[in-house]
Amino acid sequence: MNKQALIVGAGLAGLTLAVALRRYGWEVSVFEKSAALRETGTGLHTWENGLKVLEQLGLYKRATRGVQFLSSMELLDNDHKLIHRIPFSDQLRFCVLPRVQLHTTLSDAALKLGVQIHTNMEAKGADPNGTVTFVDGQQRSGDLIVGADGINSVIRDSISNDHRMETVADGSIRILIPRNEQDSPGIATEYWNGTRRVGTATSSDSLLYVYLSAVTDDEVALAKSFSIESWTSSFPFLRHVFERIPGNDIHVNKTFYYVYVKRWVAGKVVLLGDAAHAMTPNLGQGAASSMTSALEMAIQLNNSESIDDGLSKWEKRIRPMIEMTQIMARAYGSSATVWPAELMGIRSHVLTEVLKSVDINEMISTAARFVTSTNL
Ligand SMILES: Cc1cc2nc3c(=O)[nH]c(=O)nc-3n(C[C@H](O)[C@H](O)[C@H](O)COP(=O)(O)OP(=O)(O)OC[C@H]3O[C@@H](n4cnc5c(N)ncnc54)[C@H](O)[C@@H]3O)c2cc1C
Repeated sequence: MNKQALIVGAGLAGLTLAVALRRYGWEVSVFEKSAALRETGTGLHTWENGLKVLEQLGLYKRATRGVQFLSSMELLDNDHKLIHRIPFSDQLRFCVLPRVQLHTTLSDAALKLGVQIHTNMEAKGADPNGTVTFVDGQQRSGDLIVGADGINSVIRDSISNDHRMETVADGSIRILIPRNEQDSPGIATEYWNGTRRVGTATSSDSLLYVYLSAVTDDEVALAKSFSIESWTSSFPFLRHVFERIPGNDIHVNKTFYYVYVKRWVAGKVVLLGDAAHAMTPNLGQGAASSMTSALEMAIQLNNSESIDDGLSKWEKRIRPMIEMTQIMARAYGSSATVWPAELMGIRSHVLTEVLKSVDINEMISTAARFVTSTNL
């Protein structure tokens, strides 16, 4: 009989694993608490590792339909001085995928392959013996239970008493807006001024992805009702971008989160994605590294004698990549948000020098360069 996986959470991590395990012949059921399959958010910086996962799952063409690949990413200070530039190439691709397009690609593929997706099923917890319990009292058992239920994971809470979730006092607004001829095509740019940052990147012919970050205390910057004037006072040359952001109903995250869990596996239960290792979004790797981890888990399970052995090999391979990325994402964000005001005059110079280091660049790009063990 085929092995059975029960995955809690139909986000990008859970759905990637569902597709990969199904391709290896597992029976897969996904349980999602929402009434419908959906992805919140707008654009998603997607680096080489995420794109490789899509290629290996045979979903690259559909997920990247209409998307423009970028030639470089530039970090500039408020005097337009270049702090750092990352050139992209065929070996290091980068684009902004519309989140909904990626999520729909994965969920359609899962359904087509015969994954059972159950909505309106909110899990309450899981037992290492291989049982998941739902809030309506139902219970299901399987060979593998996967907690892919995001930052506030109940599966994590039920199997671990050795984890921490930290709030980082840094937040953002993210939005996809119509492009126009004033936008520089083909590059992703991040501008810094004090503790505020604005990123712009072409997503498709018609869409520009914009994110605006500020410290949580900066209430005007992170207000639900977007302030063109306040953001223009920090970045006057971007007024034309801010004027395209609707005044209300924007997607705001007031804080970011960092999750550390000492053990990702307890018996037949395993944590995946943000449930196991949410990270600040500064390197644009939370989703892509979770998708990479999901594919690696399926590969290791397929190549191992037992589920225990497969999970243990998977965790050994994935954890160093994830932990390095969590650390570097936090360090990068801290340079913007907790840099001492009295040393602001030298920030650009210090960052320019630090980012010249090959070692630092290797650490920052650990996830982007990660390659899973074998092809599907
Ligand atoms: C501001 C911001 C910007 C970001 N930008 C990027 C980026 O550019 N690139 C990138 O790679 N990453 C980015 N990320 C990170 C990325 O969004 C996440 O890492 C990724 O979406 C996590 O996917 P997941 O499947 O683990 O969790 P989620 O997407 O949170 O999915 C969890 C799913 O589980 C369901 N669920 C929750 N609880 C239960 C329950 N009890 N029972 C059943 N179902 C449940 C939820 O409804 C949801 O569908 C960003 C994050 C933030 C906050």
